[in-house]
Amino acid sequence: MSLTGSGDVSAFTTSLDGIPYIVMPVGGLKRWSKFSIRHEFAHVLQSYRDVDLPLWYREGFAEFMSATRFRDKGKKFTIGDETERQKSFYPWIPWGRLTSRDYDFHGVGAIEKLSDAYYQSWLLVHYLMIGDGGSNFDAMRRYLVIYARGEETPETFEEVFGSSATALGNRIVREYLNRMPYYEVDFRPEMQDHNFIRTPAPTDSTTATIEALRNKVYGAFK
Ligand SMILES: [Zn+2]
Repeated sequence: MSLTGSGDVSAFTTSLDGIPYIVMPVGGLKRWSKFSIRHEFAHVLQSYRDVDLPLWYREGFAEFMSATRFRDKGKKFTIGDETERQKSFYPWIPWGRLTSRDYDFHGVGAIEKLSDAYYQSWLLVHYLMIGDGGSNFDAMRRYLVIYARGEETPETFEEVFGSSATALGNRIVREYLNRMPYYEVDFRPEMQDHNFIRTPAPTDSTTATIEALRNKVYGAFK
């Protein structure tokens, strides 16, 4: 993988000796850069705990976070806002497939399909996080614990959520998609992670960039 000339990867998160890095090309659309940084920042938060999470949750949550916008001159921010990602809408990726352990986002091929995988994951996470007044949140947490332990079976989804991934996904599209709620929350600066520094990537090869970052990290402690 290289940082330039990659169509479907706009950024990625890596960690060196416990220090998280968001690596992304400097160029590109400003709007998408912000979107990508917020998406990757969510992965950084996830990486603080070494837990095996389903890909739909990992990416859906990152999409959920990436849609955050500041309002009121930075005094408030939104939770559950509209994602920038476009959905091609037809055909939907089968929800059962999307939520199965071996579903590989990058194995789907076409860029539209990859985008759909992110979009549908966002829909599902959005619903489970704040849909129905947040009443699905505990079930989601329960599901993630079972998944992290590697104990989920094809029946677990239905057991935990009360309907199969297919039924739930279809209901979300039918009943939730057009009336998705979002919230405005007061911004508290102490929630900021101040450890991020903007570091130019010294080369366009991922391996070399990681190596250079590693040297930088060690250099700082010499
Ligand atoms: Zn991601």
